[in-house]
Amino acid sequence: MAIIIDGKKTSSDMRGEIRERTLKFKEENGFLPGLAVIIVGEDPASQVYVRNKKKDCDEVGFNSEVIALPENTEEKELLALIDTLNKREDIHGILVQLPLPKHLDSEIVIAAIDPEKDVDAFSYVNVGKITVGNYSFLPCTPAGVMELLKRYNIEVAGKNCVVVGRSNIVGKPMALLLLHANGTVTVAHSRTQNLADVTRNADILVSAVGKADFITGDMIKEGAVVIDVGMNKNKEGKLTGDVDYESCFAKASAITPVPGGVGPMTRVMLLENTLTAAQNKIKK
Ligand code: NDP
Repeated sequence: MAIIIDGKKTSSDMRGEIRERTLKFKEENGFLPGLAVIIVGEDPASQVYVRNKKKDCDEVGFNSEVIALPENTEEKELLALIDTLNKREDIHGILVQLPLPKHLDSEIVIAAIDPEKDVDAFSYVNVGKITVGNYSFLPCTPAGVMELLKRYNIEVAGKNCVVVGRSNIVGKPMALLLLHANGTVTVAHSRTQNLADVTRNADILVSAVGKADFITGDMIKEGAVVIDVGMNKNKEGKLTGDVDYESCFAKASAITPVPGGVGPMTRVMLLENTLTAAQNKIKK
């Protein structure tokens, strides 16, 4: 029987804390943190994510604006908009909702964001800073996982940590953060052989694959901590993670549910990064 790591409650507690810190910040500095979110095109999932980001900002008292551009926006127009936002004093965080339409190169677009306003921490500068362990922002999903481990007093140092998945936005930075926390880290991917032998070695297992019921109870060690980053739709169209919850729950010492685990933490970490960006401006 596992402890359920409740990302919904943890993120709600954090929102309350961020709201209070924002009030104090305003009192001390006379302005509010500001986030600009750019969305290009009409991808329905992206529209939901962007609406939620705006709602989250409203809830903690940030200024925020959503800039919706048509699908056929040219790269130079988008880069010009980012340049304007980079220069605006009232905007501390800039986020370009991904994926972008195919004719736009997301690497070029992300690289155009001032690294000090890159609250997704996807730019080369911020990726480099994270690699050497000297950073202002962390990418929201891995940062959310680390915050859960911290708040549930799960020690990483000295533990065998296995991350399944090596994407630039989740798997790789997740592995780096666990390494910075002194875990002994293995990264598994689609070419890993005998995956179950690797995952069974994990004291802390993070799955970021994108396949429903991919991690089953027989693939984990008794007492493992299981973190499910996956967000998939099952056959009934319901949101589900990568982890077969029932079989893993029976063996794990702690586990994140989906929904209500890592997802809400990703959302709140964007607020944390935006507040950090505003605070960094004061320190200058
Ligand atoms: P990607 O598709 O970019 O990466 C998936 C990774 O899984 C790849 O590294 C791939 O390996 C690996 N993989 C695929 N099949 C296997 C396999 N059979 N065995 C081992 N590894 C495999 O996905 P993302 O990293 O962007 O996202 C992963 C999941 O997390 C998705 O479900 C996504 O929706 C979710 N997600 C959730 C968030 C949240 O807030 N909870 C935020 C972001 C993502 P290879 O590199 O070899 O192809």
